[in-house]
Amino acid sequence: MMAGLFDPHLPTRVLFVGGGQDSVALLMLCQHDIGFRETFLGKSNFCALMTDTGIEYQETEEYVSWLKQWCPTVGIDFTFVTPDMGFHGATWQSLTDQMERNNNIMGVTFAKSCTDNLKIKVSYRFLAQWLRDHYGYRGNDPSVFYQYRHYFGKLVSWIGFAAGEESRVAHPGPKTPAEPDEYVLFQEGDTGPAYIPKWRKLCVEHRYPLLELGHDRAACQRIIAVYGYPIPYPSNCMFCPFQNEVEIVYLYRTHPDRWQQWVERKAAKLAKFAQSKVNHGVKGKLALPQYLKKALEKYGHWSVEQLREYRFSHGHCVVSKY
Ligand code: SF4
Repeated sequence: MMAGLFDPHLPTRVLFVGGGQDSVALLMLCQHDIGFRETFLGKSNFCALMTDTGIEYQETEEYVSWLKQWCPTVGIDFTFVTPDMGFHGATWQSLTDQMERNNNIMGVTFAKSCTDNLKIKVSYRFLAQWLRDHYGYRGNDPSVFYQYRHYFGKLVSWIGFAAGEESRVAHPGPKTPAEPDEYVLFQEGDTGPAYIPKWRKLCVEHRYPLLELGHDRAACQRIIAVYGYPIPYPSNCMFCPFQNEVEIVYLYRTHPDRWQQWVERKAAKLAKFAQSKVNHGVKGKLALPQYLKKALEKYGHWSVEQLREYRFSHGHCVVSKY
């Protein structure tokens, strides 16, 4: 059941869209595959959302623009949650906003607080409001999820991890400390938001339909193509520290201004923590220009088209978990 046919007597299934091939394949399955709908949707409302990190590649931005136009034409309730809508944290309007605000960076040896602050928290703030608007619940954010659970059980949300990405499934940790409003956890030694708040454990259930169906990335590409839609590039922030050598060369070659900005942000972070015993950068002890130098030695002869083709066929599998 899609947005225009919302029924307050039915539960809702939520899809977290990343703008890449996996979650878009789920969107297409939901729209076109009757067997999929019977198995995973049943008699439910459907809501899809994606949060704006502020620094996606142009290919992803263009695809999201297309999704925003296409979804309403087929009755899918899809929202691209941008900072002006009020669900982003005051100090996390975007990845670059946070970096400039605190002279910090994301690094491979640090906690993954970007995912928590730019995706997970923003999504649940938006969802809380969505539940208020559609079911008429009142109260603060956690309380509306408890109200939903009272009537429908846990809110089922789908995550588009493809077969082969099983290690990204988050397992609730034993700790549930009080949840601070914002995390500023870019320095070494951060434990990060590696726990799931109690209300989410009690009120939200994640399902991973692609894992359940055994669909890997190539299958996702086929699913999108078979229904006649354009296949998106895998999505990731331009300043994501988990980009590999090919992706770093692509960023350097196609967005030299962004590359320079990243190097400057990294330098500002190192200067801020100059007195710290351990002071890592984006790639741990290896400086970004050194990492680039090594990457260029291996892939500098590739054309932009070759680099782009690599990006298209290799998912950007970050270690962040949901
Ligand atoms: S793509 Fe990388 S930088 Fe962006 S939110 Fe995910 S882990 Fe963080």
